[in-house]
Amino acid sequence: MRITHFVDGKPWTGEPGRTGEVYDPATGTVSGHVDLASAADVDTAVAAAVRAGREWRDASLARRTSVLFAFREIVNARRDELAATITAEHGKVLSDAAGEVQRGLEIIEYACGIPSLLAGGHSENVSTGVDSYTLRQPLGVVAVISPFNFPAMVPLWFVPIAVACGNTVVLKPSEKDPSSAGLLAAWFGEAGLPDGVFNVVHGDKEAVDALLDHRDVKSVSFVGSTPVARYVYERGTAAGKRVQALGGAKNHMVVLPDADLDLAADAAVNAGFGSAGERCMAISVVVAVEPVADALVERIAARIDGLRTGDGRRGCDMGPLVTAAHLARVTSYVEAGAAAGAKAVVDGREVVADGEAGGYWLGPTLFDHVTPDMSIYTDEIFGPVLSVVRVASYDEALALVNACEYGNGTAIFTNDGGAARRYQHEVEVGMVGVNVPIPVPMAYYSFGGWKSSLFGDTHAHGREGVHFFTRGKVVTSRWLDPSHGGINLGFPTQT
Ligand code: NAD
Repeated sequence: MRITHFVDGKPWTGEPGRTGEVYDPATGTVSGHVDLASAADVDTAVAAAVRAGREWRDASLARRTSVLFAFREIVNARRDELAATITAEHGKVLSDAAGEVQRGLEIIEYACGIPSLLAGGHSENVSTGVDSYTLRQPLGVVAVISPFNFPAMVPLWFVPIAVACGNTVVLKPSEKDPSSAGLLAAWFGEAGLPDGVFNVVHGDKEAVDALLDHRDVKSVSFVGSTPVARYVYERGTAAGKRVQALGGAKNHMVVLPDADLDLAADAAVNAGFGSAGERCMAISVVVAVEPVADALVERIAARIDGLRTGDGRRGCDMGPLVTAAHLARVTSYVEAGAAAGAKAVVDGREVVADGEAGGYWLGPTLFDHVTPDMSIYTDEIFGPVLSVVRVASYDEALALVNACEYGNGTAIFTNDGGAARRYQHEVEVGMVGVNVPIPVPMAYYSFGGWKSSLFGDTHAHGREGVHFFTRGKVVTSRWLDPSHGGINLGFPTQT
């Protein structure tokens, strides 16, 4: 199957240049070939978006909202098709893919409220007979560049709000699981979105660089690994664009001695191994404040024992990793952890998967007695590898979390409200859970981390999303009632 760009309301029919292979991670077989855009292809997509923007920026709020409502209905009716597409290319189990679609739907629903979200302020008589009011206007053509791990949800973090605000979009999804983006573009068209308002170009660094350098692209919303996020931020802002670049993560879950250990163990397993650890909000480090470590590790290990790894279409708990290269990388961390002296309580390399032999399998892996100098602690692994670090006190736990390069998400497990309140106040992380392991904000709040987990100052969706995709303007107006003020060269002051 050939997976093409989607430009100006239709699938691309031009000859492919470079292409990339797309795999089914549960079988290890090639399921399609995706076109990889050249700079000239990107130029064609941006030109379509520029043309479409001339009309779309003036579309009434009622028209934009009706398109979004229709799009919401289509995605909702076809959620199973979208989830199946995600599983076939990403590998996450079907129920998890359905959860991804649900979170994406919630952003579409949020964007349906755009008339209220764009309402500005108005002050009458800022000076006698003079009024002031605010407008928020679209930027123009905006680019969205998304990672492999949420091929539908991450594009939906941005595209519905950008479109609702009157922008036109060029999306460059991950080349590892590109098909979901094409479905979303086609369905938006069915919902009544005019041709060229939402375009998809597939590709790799060449396409990304073309977007970053294009003079008609006014903003870039990027989600991916930290080195690429930093690069996108620096190159995009140097080219004068507004950029929000969300990067990698290393999320800690602190367990205090008074915590409910069964709840904490459930949470560690769900957040550590859901989606095979390929989530930017996955828990990868459990910080056990003594004396709980032995009892907690025992509970986590017992739960891992009951997990079934295998093909996401067979009702398993955990699917394969996304590619053979990623499997090799994650496995190398398991080897490094063992070599560095961490205790492998559960070794995922020994898993017997319910799937084809060619699938990219690694079972849940649990390391105890991990220390902060080990690479399994310092690096984002992005796989089903959970590390337990033992500390003596709350202060030691906090210092560990705050010393981390990343600041995406964190959680504290405790029954002490005062300790939880202190943690949420003191921790240097953007999203905090209290007895909640994956504190992903709802659509009407904003999503984003601190430190090397986000470059730029604007988080995704919620009010910050609307702010990112619009420019503010203040109008000061006087309609002549005949009291002309006459000539006055002084700076305007109120009278
Ligand atoms: P990635 O950085 O490899 O790729 C992300 C996007 O950038 C893709 O579209 C890819 O084609 C493009 N890209 C890759 N290398 C590039 C380069 N050298 N120059 C220009 N563009 C390039 O990330 P990934 O492996 O697809 O996704 C996993 C990463 O994303 C993890 O680090 C994860 O933590 C992060 N992530 C973060 C969040 C968040 O909200 N902070 C959410 C999801 C994923």
